[in-house]
Amino acid sequence: MDCIFCKIANGEIPSTTLYEDDDLRVIFDINPTSAGHALILPKEHAASLLEYPAEKLGHIFEIAQKVGKSMEKGLHADGVNILANCRPAAGQSVDHFHVHVIPRYANQPEKDALVIETHEIPKPDLDALAKAIQENL
Ligand code: 5GP
Ligand code: ZN
Repeated sequence: MDCIFCKIANGEIPSTTLYEDDDLRVIFDINPTSAGHALILPKEHAASLLEYPAEKLGHIFEIAQKVGKSMEKGLHADGVNILANCRPAAGQSVDHFHVHVIPRYANQPEKDALVIETHEIPKPDLDALAKAIQENL
């Protein structure tokens, strides 16, 4: 399979590596949202977080927490966004599960803050929405 993140995660393509273990590699995003923007790449291919083995997610997020704390300490970030886009409709552009760890700075809120836009939508039927999700949990 021709997957760029498989190649980077497994060291076939060299990258500046912040952290590596048997399961994952942490690198810098080539097109960062802020200085230090990192990506956690599992070495095992999965199309997105939704396909990744559930029992291994804990380790990925342990490392995300470690990297986020290190950004606060080492980069003096005031906060971090930790997120995974799943599917193109949600903004996923590389078809290999990855977690973004993005340092944020209080003095640059317009430039750096991640804004989740809200839209005017017809008033949702919350009971119906909850039922549709719960039936599929
Ligand atoms: P997504 O949009 O899928 O959540 O995020 C993909 C991220 O991967 C983007 O922020 C993009 O800049 C980054 N990216 C894409 N190709 C490469 C690459 O070859 N190397 C690195 N380091 N980052 C990449
Ligand atoms: Zn892959």
